[in-house]
Amino acid sequence: MPEVPAAAAAAVPASPEPFEVRPVTGWGRTAPTVARVLRPRSYQEAAAAVLGCGARGGIARGLGRAYGDAAQNAGGDVLDMTGLARIRSIDAEAGIVVCDAGVSLHTLMEVLLPLGWFVPVTPGTRYVTVGGAIGADVHGKNHHVSGSFGRHVRAFDLLTADGSVRTVLPGTDLFDATTGGMGLTGVVLAAEIQLVPVESAWMSVDTERAADLDDLLARLTANDDGYRYSVAWIDLLARGAATGRAVLTRGDHARVGELPRRARSEPLAFRPGRFPAAPAFLPEGLLTRTTVGVFNEVWYRRAPRHRTGELQRLPAFFHPLDGVPHWNRVYGRGGFVQYQFVVGHGREETLRRVVRRIARRGCPSFLAVLKRFGAGDPGWLSFPMPGWTLALDVPAGLSGLGAFLDELDEEVADAGGRVYLAKDSRLRPDALAAMYPRLADFRALRAGLDPRGVFTSDLARRLSL
Ligand SMILES: Cc1cc2nc3c(=O)[nH]c(=O)nc-3n(C[C@H](O)[C@H](O)[C@H](O)COP(=O)(O)OP(=O)(O)OC[C@H]3O[C@@H](n4cnc5c(N)ncnc54)[C@H](O)[C@@H]3O)c2cc1C
Repeated sequence: MPEVPAAAAAAVPASPEPFEVRPVTGWGRTAPTVARVLRPRSYQEAAAAVLGCGARGGIARGLGRAYGDAAQNAGGDVLDMTGLARIRSIDAEAGIVVCDAGVSLHTLMEVLLPLGWFVPVTPGTRYVTVGGAIGADVHGKNHHVSGSFGRHVRAFDLLTADGSVRTVLPGTDLFDATTGGMGLTGVVLAAEIQLVPVESAWMSVDTERAADLDDLLARLTANDDGYRYSVAWIDLLARGAATGRAVLTRGDHARVGELPRRARSEPLAFRPGRFPAAPAFLPEGLLTRTTVGVFNEVWYRRAPRHRTGELQRLPAFFHPLDGVPHWNRVYGRGGFVQYQFVVGHGREETLRRVVRRIARRGCPSFLAVLKRFGAGDPGWLSFPMPGWTLALDVPAGLSGLGAFLDELDEEVADAGGRVYLAKDSRLRPDALAAMYPRLADFRALRAGLDPRGVFTSDLARRLSL
């Protein structure tokens, strides 16, 4: 990988850098555990931290946007990689960036948009690191045409359990085990990423309402491939004939010629707005079936039945939640569970059944989205497969939630589907093997690469990854 020194971290300092012992949680704030948190600032410090891990091992952490317990490690070490955050080189002709793993997609957008380049894949928040995007092999609204993040990574440097650094290329087992491998093959230190060219920091967006789930699936099946980006907000509280009603938004990067005159002088200006942060904690019980039902009704009704070519700024289209810092506090101290699953094409009946069950159960979910995935990705534990993915948030304190989601897991697994590990905090280990057929290969590779089991996390222990 050019510009990045891939030398083995030979001259490793004997003692790890200063650390902090503190509780660590995922974005859902459900299961905090205490760990020793270190923040390496160089390859050498990162290698020292890995070699200095105790019996409870260590795990890399980015910006902690995984909802569950993937980036925490009870009683062990957590390597906060945000201290390694340099952009090392930009090839503005070819659209290739080489950067440290702790660089956020937000920073990449700030730096690259003015040059006419955009990240190839962005999840619903830009406050994720490149390391976290590789670790979870994240997908975006363009999965049906562009695949997941790992497809656009040309190489990365991986710090392995023996303290050495390897440059890993696509098409190798180590690459495919690491993209989506939830940090369990090692610590990504830097990556080389292929970007996509854009003419502006605006999106041209078509919006339409779907009257129910079947209407939504029909619209997505008919012409989703005609759009680069596509996602549907779905009302999971609507019942009867309106079950699964949705607002579908699809679009592409706007060309300069499409912009109003006033925006044409600075078409690539990146202007993320920011509202005041959510209060430290809102009272429990604010998000009930009634309050969320009212919200969903208003949200659905105020959406246009059909509108084309609306211009939206990039942050409004891709990352509306990023405008409200700490929005995850609205669920109160108990936190929330994010449940995301995928089932393949031909398994629409399972999707319908799950949506009906959620609606009957009255889960107060206002952040629910449905998306059509394209071809699966090479990562052994990558989540996407061709089909339908539904993601919903639910307050963790909802009574009977655990048993209810266990039942949904069974439906999903029986249909050959899977749940997303980056969102998970409660899946049972027995459900996992059916969902991830390359799990045995993943475990075998880890056993060879990391025989002492240095890399581990709460997620890895819970699911015996
Ligand atoms: C509002 C919101 C919307 C989201 N939308 C989407 C979406 O649309 N699509 C999607 O796919 N995901 C989505 N996510 C999930 C998020 O994109 C992933 O969890 C991502 O991995 C978070 O990155 P992070 O830097 O915060 O990593 P963390 O959450 O800190 O860690 C996530 C995983 O990556 C590993 N990791 C982190 N850094 C490294 C490293 N340097 N080397 C090796 N492994 C590492 C960790 O060990 C852990 O297993 C969303 C999350 C939020 C909060």
